[in-house]
Amino acid sequence: MGGSEMEDCLFCSIAAGDLQAKIAYRDEYAVAFHDINPRAPVHILIVPVRHIESLLELGAEDAGLLGHLHLVAARLARELGVAERGFRVVINTNREAGQSVPHLHLHLLGGRPMDWPPG
Ligand code: 5GP
Ligand code: ZN
Repeated sequence: MGGSEMEDCLFCSIAAGDLQAKIAYRDEYAVAFHDINPRAPVHILIVPVRHIESLLELGAEDAGLLGHLHLVAARLARELGVAERGFRVVINTNREAGQSVPHLHLHLLGGRPMDWPPG
């Protein structure tokens, strides 16, 4: 992975603080910020600080990181008041699922009833 790939990456830029976003949580491994086009009253994106294109790029050595991203989602669900009512954590991967930014991100969605299955 070249440096330029990461410089051109939207979510790397947000994680680095070079692009403005409404940050909800940050630590050494993860950054969470409000989606610019929210699809629910609560719509947060949780991303690894490290550039990872998608779920398909992860190996067994990344299990801890993947777990951590989910724990951040649960923590934010509690903090933002949707934990008890219910919320959804979604990872879109590749074209048919609608992944539009090639940097791994969890969507945390809550604050309204949700359809199942997703469209
Ligand atoms: P995907 O479609 O890849 O699953 O999700 C990408 C998400 O990133 C979309 O929900 C979209 O609204 C959000 N997004 C795209 N560009 C930006 C941006 O510059 N800032 C923020 N905060 N969210 C963005
Ligand atoms: Zn990136």
